[in-house]
Amino acid sequence: IKWSEERGWHDAEVRAYEPLTFDPATAVLHYGQAIFEGLKAYRQPDGTVAAFRPDANAARFRNSARRLAMPELPDELFIGSIQELIAVDERWVPTRQGDALYLRPFMIATSEGLGVNRPAAEYLYLLIASPAGAYFDGGVKPVSVWLSTEYVRAAPGGTGEAKCAGNYAASFLAQAQAVEQGCDQVVWLDAVERRWIEEMGGMNLFFVFGSGADAKVVTPELSGSLLPGITRDSLLRLAADHGYRVEERRISTDECEKAAASGELTEVFACGTAAVITPVGRVKHAKGGYTIRGGEPGELTMKLREELVGIQEGTRPDPHGWMHKLA
Ligand code: PMP
Repeated sequence: IKWSEERGWHDAEVRAYEPLTFDPATAVLHYGQAIFEGLKAYRQPDGTVAAFRPDANAARFRNSARRLAMPELPDELFIGSIQELIAVDERWVPTRQGDALYLRPFMIATSEGLGVNRPAAEYLYLLIASPAGAYFDGGVKPVSVWLSTEYVRAAPGGTGEAKCAGNYAASFLAQAQAVEQGCDQVVWLDAVERRWIEEMGGMNLFFVFGSGADAKVVTPELSGSLLPGITRDSLLRLAADHGYRVEERRISTDECEKAAASGELTEVFACGTAAVITPVGRVKHAKGGYTIRGGEPGELTMKLREELVGIQEGTRPDPHGWMHKLA
């Protein structure tokens, strides 16, 4: 779907997957006005297809657009584009349990010209999709994380809360450093004090204090510089539904390390659309590191994971009406 100042949103069409061609002076190639979303459509047990909370992705896409001075795509067009894509060939949605159709809506600035003083006058919204297999073949495996104190992902007032391409461009070097350190993923800290835990490269983080019915579930508050994950929001609600105390607050690297040493911190997990929930087993930083539960996945982690996956695959009740029927 195209957008221009004169015509607004226009020329919606479904096309065969093919390369796009751009003038070398196209705005997005120089100034990075590019935003995206990621969500999944699942085959339900009755054969229908449903997406997980596409309305939440549509809303986040509008917020990202606003921050990047791009036009906001109305939710009907966002969700309508997904419906139309699936209507072309419903068989794109895998039927094997654990598999899903990953959907990637995105928007780029397509005006030609090198002027940087005002936002582009033309934009293109696109949606592509790809079948995605279960993230963990052969069982859930805890990941190890590297606390990045050298680089930051997002600063106050910056674009951290938006799902824009530039945030990811800024993260590759730190992710490479995490791998050099023998870790799977980078964990970002706040830009000012470098001690408040924000999020992982592409997932939000949760910390469980205590165990059993007394467990308390803590996740970093939305500081303005971390992405408001839709999985994060869903898990906060599921944990509260189960009667656990949930807290959105600041959590420092020191608090985390001390609580891990005393045994009070019982589980850490990361969450996002791709993997749903990943246990975190080991934390490493410039001055040392520690393990959580000897690197084994926690009970609450696995319970929440099973519940959310069940809602998405249609094998469990959906009390919040999160599944949106598409076909
Ligand atoms: N943080 C970042 C930086 C991400 O890229 C993602 C993936 N979209 C998340 C968190 C998790 O968000 P969601 O649960 O909406 O997938």
